[in-house]
Amino acid sequence: MDRVVVIGVGNVGASFAYAMMMQGTSDEIVLIDRKFDFADAHAQDMNHSNTFLTKQIKIRAGNYSDCKDAKIVCITAGLPQKEGQTRLDLAQDNAMLMKMIVEQIMESGFDGILLIATNPVDVMTHVAQKVSKLPHSRVIGSGTTLDSARFRQNLAQYFDVNPKHVHAKVIGEHGDSSVALWSSAYIGPKPILDLVNENPDKYKFEDLNKAYEDARDAAYDIIKQKGSTYYGIGASLNYITKSILDDQKNVASLSSYLQGEYNHDDVYIAVPSLIGRDGVVEVLSLNLTSTEREKFDYSVELMKKTMNSINL
Ligand code: NAD
Repeated sequence: MDRVVVIGVGNVGASFAYAMMMQGTSDEIVLIDRKFDFADAHAQDMNHSNTFLTKQIKIRAGNYSDCKDAKIVCITAGLPQKEGQTRLDLAQDNAMLMKMIVEQIMESGFDGILLIATNPVDVMTHVAQKVSKLPHSRVIGSGTTLDSARFRQNLAQYFDVNPKHVHAKVIGEHGDSSVALWSSAYIGPKPILDLVNENPDKYKFEDLNKAYEDARDAAYDIIKQKGSTYYGIGASLNYITKSILDDQKNVASLSSYLQGEYNHDDVYIAVPSLIGRDGVVEVLSLNLTSTEREKFDYSVELMKKTMNSINL
């Protein structure tokens, strides 16, 4: 029986748990929050969906001892961005929280996969690995899975196609220094850059840039209007979790640990990664253009600098 534990049942954690429940992703979901009653109320509320589901899911509030037999523990606890804050502004405070949570998870005897969503997610994933000492392949961040989904959705609307057939990735920091990979962006088998070059009256390069910039800045807009973003990340975490539990070997832009790939070492940053039951099976190395490489290198240096600035 697969158990997934969600730590931090705020907007993101609850949306993720609900997405898992709706899709029957895991047999059992355990919710942990610093306020037990809060997690328990969420569990009760979600349980009231069971009548309408094809697969019955056990969902309950729990504590750290429940991590012992979990296949995946997902950490969504942490301070969210406030209006005007960048994700990197959260680094020191959330790192302390991450350390405390991961220590308690490891005390339970947990030996599964840690999935991190707390921001700044690339840095928090690094912290979680350092504290847990689990193999790098089993400590994973959601990275730019969400940014890539936003990007694909914007391009899908522009080209009027199903987003499933837009193959385009955002890599680098889940944040302001992320990089859109135009050199490997396709609609079905057709390179997007060819499509624009061949149809200059219909498509414009400026519109493509806007599709990326809107994806990059989406969180700022949403936070301004309703305080936080959670449905998209909930669905992204569910996709990653399904990929692991069902050993789907999907490719997602996860915060993965680089050990020489892209000429970088000892850094967690989002790159296309093959994911299955054992975690990140392979980091896919792409040939970047010189512009993409320059931007990616900058993003890597920023993540390293932020990681080095943290007092654990
Ligand atoms: P939230 O304030 O709604 O929820 C945070 C939850 O964590 C609260 O329920 C709180 O009680 C709990 N918590 C705090 N300390 C805890 C502890 N020590 N142990 C257990 N639970 C604890 O915030 P949110 O909107 O759900 O955001 C959570 C995190 O997810 C933030 O860091 C946010 O920036 C991040 N986020 C990441 C992505 C992504 O793409 N990776 C997207 C959106 C949000």
